[in-house]
Amino acid sequence: MNTTNDGTGEKETKQFCAAFVGSPVPRNAYRLFSKPLLHAIPSLSSISTTPRSRPRISIQAITRKVSDIRSYPEIDKQTRRKLRLDAKKIARKEEKAKKITPQGFGDRTGVGLHPFGSSKRTEAEREARINYVASPVGREIAQRITGMLSGGKADMLLHVLRARFLERVDKVAYDEEVKLTPDIGKVYMKLLDEIMLCDSLYYSDNPKPRISDEQYDELIMHLIELERFFPELIRPESPSQNVGHGAAARSSKLGLDSEIADKPITARDSFAATVPITEKRFPQYRHKALMLSLDNAYKHDDLVSFARRAADANSDISAELKVDGIALSLEYHNGKLAAAATRGNGRIGEDITDNVRAALVGRGVVDAIEDPLAPDLILVRGEAYIAPHDFEEVNAALKNKLSNPRNAAAGALKHKLPSEAKSRKLSFVAYECLNGNLMKSDDVETSSNSTMIGKKPFPTLRNTWPTQSETLKRLAEWGFGKMPRFERCGDLTTAELFANVVEEDRRSLPLEVDGVVLKFNDSRAREAAGHTARAPRGAVALKFAAQSKVTVLEDVVMQVSRNGVITPVAILKPVRVGGAVLSRATLHNFDEVQRLGVAVGDDVRVERGGDVIPKIVKVERRSSSMERRELQPPLECPSCFGEVLSETDDLTGSSTVECQNAEKCLAQVHGRLIHFAAKDAMDIRGLGKKTADKLIDSGHIVVLADLFRLTLGDLLSLEGFAEKSAQTLLDSIREASTQRSLENLIFGLGLPTVGRTGARALAQNVMSIERLLEIALHEDEADSLITIPNFAEKTAHAVHSFLRRERTQAEIKALMENVRCKSIVDEEDAIPDMSVSASGEVAGKSFVFTGKIARTSRNRLKKLITKAGGVVRTDVTRKTDYVVVGLEPGQKYFKAQRLNVKTLQEEEFLQLFKLSEEEAREIREGAI
Ligand SMILES: [Zn+2]
Repeated sequence: MNTTNDGTGEKETKQFCAAFVGSPVPRNAYRLFSKPLLHAIPSLSSISTTPRSRPRISIQAITRKVSDIRSYPEIDKQTRRKLRLDAKKIARKEEKAKKITPQGFGDRTGVGLHPFGSSKRTEAEREARINYVASPVGREIAQRITGMLSGGKADMLLHVLRARFLERVDKVAYDEEVKLTPDIGKVYMKLLDEIMLCDSLYYSDNPKPRISDEQYDELIMHLIELERFFPELIRPESPSQNVGHGAAARSSKLGLDSEIADKPITARDSFAATVPITEKRFPQYRHKALMLSLDNAYKHDDLVSFARRAADANSDISAELKVDGIALSLEYHNGKLAAAATRGNGRIGEDITDNVRAALVGRGVVDAIEDPLAPDLILVRGEAYIAPHDFEEVNAALKNKLSNPRNAAAGALKHKLPSEAKSRKLSFVAYECLNGNLMKSDDVETSSNSTMIGKKPFPTLRNTWPTQSETLKRLAEWGFGKMPRFERCGDLTTAELFANVVEEDRRSLPLEVDGVVLKFNDSRAREAAGHTARAPRGAVALKFAAQSKVTVLEDVVMQVSRNGVITPVAILKPVRVGGAVLSRATLHNFDEVQRLGVAVGDDVRVERGGDVIPKIVKVERRSSSMERRELQPPLECPSCFGEVLSETDDLTGSSTVECQNAEKCLAQVHGRLIHFAAKDAMDIRGLGKKTADKLIDSGHIVVLADLFRLTLGDLLSLEGFAEKSAQTLLDSIREASTQRSLENLIFGLGLPTVGRTGARALAQNVMSIERLLEIALHEDEADSLITIPNFAEKTAHAVHSFLRRERTQAEIKALMENVRCKSIVDEEDAIPDMSVSASGEVAGKSFVFTGKIARTSRNRLKKLITKAGGVVRTDVTRKTDYVVVGLEPGQKYFKAQRLNVKTLQEEEFLQLFKLSEEEAREIREGAI
């Protein structure tokens, strides 16, 4: 830095140096040294500064300054030596001070835990803060926030942050205060509003997150950062002040010291627990044992120190899945389910017993624990979630798509109508069991009287079984949702291996997993380890990396569903995310497009979570090209150019655009035909998308039943059909007309909110297609659908009004004349398998998958194996026949080699099946 002859005389320089080693600071010293800086950023000068009584500087600044002193020729040798000595003295003092106040800074590429709420800022703390702001991540965040907030006001925020940063870099080490201006106050309020808006959307009945979790965390982090600079800004509704609120439960991970376990509950806590999340307020529920969330291990060091703690406690490590759901605590009195609650702030949650009873009993939660030896007070804890296949089913039936399973689960649990919660197909997996004595617990009734809260001590509850592995086993024996995978690990390496395998297999698991949880296997040791302010010490979560990448939005196409809903689909420049190449992503609806502000040509971030279709989460950079094309909702159907109707959902405020031309819209007919011919429906071999197009374009198929009236001549008149392929298709259509079950046929009709299980239930109820038509023709038959098990009232009505449509009635009549159902329900074994000829090489053989399957999903291949009479296993043993190796294979590949198990590449594997070319292509293309 150039500091000489900038109008800077010897006197002033000396003054600075004096100030530098601890004498009073002249007011102009700041200006003196930051002149080049002020030139660089003119607006910085507008921030007024008031030096504190005594300047303080950091150790690094001193060290650097000492070496800098040479560059001031005005200072004589003697002074220089004195300066150096003084500097060292200060450095020693600082060092000492640092030792006394150990820092709780987490570190995850600069973003991490921040100490919060301590009134004294140490130099090291300050430095860490400034370093955070200075880090590339910090700067990026600052810029992003600026982008989110509009106008020049936001620049102020950026400048505040940058001033701190530059001050550090520029070695102007005064602890001057940046004055709080009204503008900064406004920025703060805007940030707070944004966060609260996100919360209200996230926790609404039909949750629609505004931004991704990562972005949300960034906002929270910045709010907290601002609050640290300007504590006078803090508002009671700030998430930093409300540890309990769902949103703030996440922010609590960012470091809130105020929540100490043995502190009484304050009014603020109770406020937090009752923040109205839906229109319905749930009563408060006081947890009988603290329910804290786990600390995340971001670095390997965190794991190492956890493993050391376990070893010190003489415990091995238990590893289990970290289910991406909503934590619940279930309370049993004398074996009967008495209450169910959310985590809330760890001490007070919301009493959602009715919703849990309606939605989860029989789906991982038991109403009664059938064990005469069970203690009289039991707490079972676990995670409520929506399994990927259930989520797809629920979503397929909804016009306003739920964006991800976890939010959908949260929305369902807190829905004001238990019956609606039921329709969302929640499941539960249990992982903790505590017990105590009902008589002694002194708090049997769940009090919602907030004045009582905080006075009662927590009753002492203990883990019911001595080890975590036994707990998981015994909970499953009691009938609770079973943890699909867990392992007792002797050491950290084994635990990490478990984590690797889980990460590799996560897509084939029956539930969404976002990491693994490591616990002291010894329950007593875990109890003894206690907890920090935020999290238990005897357990740690290891989260998998988020799967997102930036790519170019090349185009947007309009897709018309079989029910006429028009959705924009993003066509992406292909990008590899977490082992899969993505080239399409959903944009949900036009509200979403508007909210994202996305246009063709922009750089966008795509995220892939679980088995959910990839989605665009935000615009990373707007295209500056003239070609940039903004998107508008279509004014007519892109397929039939027919009338469209925009509808706005009262509840969520989001709108859908629907083609009104149900009978003639080719896209809708196409969608219905493909669904009808799908494997789970009528399973018509050889009827792929292209063939469907040809049949519809040529006018041969208008309603589904036309399929059964096709003749050889019809097919031969189409391009690309030879006698043989035409005959094959006709054969499989003929076979479908007599060899399928009523369940298949009903599923094929594509009734709203009816998936495979719904179709089965409906088939078992109506028993014949004639009866289905009867229901369709009579207005008062809706009630008969309500009695069907698993049919919520809403489902029944949706199905009935769909059946009541003239188009559906005509469709059913026509099908009645052409299809004879073989049975009521689909008995898998009874159905002759047309699509895969059971080959001797597959039947009776066992298969294990490792690595990412490039061209299709593992599930499709697994189905293929099962259909051909083979079995799919998860672990490689000597008895395994084949290991199918995808890209980036994991440990199983090496194990296969060690055990001399035959390995197959994807292509080789497909050759085991005698597939037609079209089938092979369909398997590769998959069906979304
Ligand atoms: Zn249309």
